[in-house]
Amino acid sequence: MDDAIPSASHTVDEWIHGYEEGEILRGFRCTHCSLITATWGLACPRCGQRTLEEHTLGRTGRVVAFTILNVPGDEFLNDAPYAYVVVELDAGGRITGWMPSVKSVDDLTIHQRVHFVPGYKPGVQFAKDAPPE
Ligand SMILES: [Zn+2]
Repeated sequence: MDDAIPSASHTVDEWIHGYEEGEILRGFRCTHCSLITATWGLACPRCGQRTLEEHTLGRTGRVVAFTILNVPGDEFLNDAPYAYVVVELDAGGRITGWMPSVKSVDDLTIHQRVHFVPGYKPGVQFAKDAPPE
């Protein structure tokens, strides 16, 4: 059995340590069931087929879950508190990220529209979309 992870132009290290040079988010799409995922794996988490191909993810979406982190890891010590978020991307797939602008549960609501912000920090950073005028 082939245990190689799907071919990708991005590495797990880039995923963990951020997309500081990237303007896009990258993930995988299952060619069997069309599931879009941001996470590396040997097989599709939904159908189990080993048919993942690289896929460009969208930059915009909505918050579907979040929590406030007050005791972060070393790389985020100066940013706490901040929100750790799960974002459902408009183009498909869910991704975890963080929002340094969110300091308490009163600063964010489920379904808030957000967009990816490339930066030098690890992880995938999001910011709120500007409210409609
Ligand atoms: Zn699948």
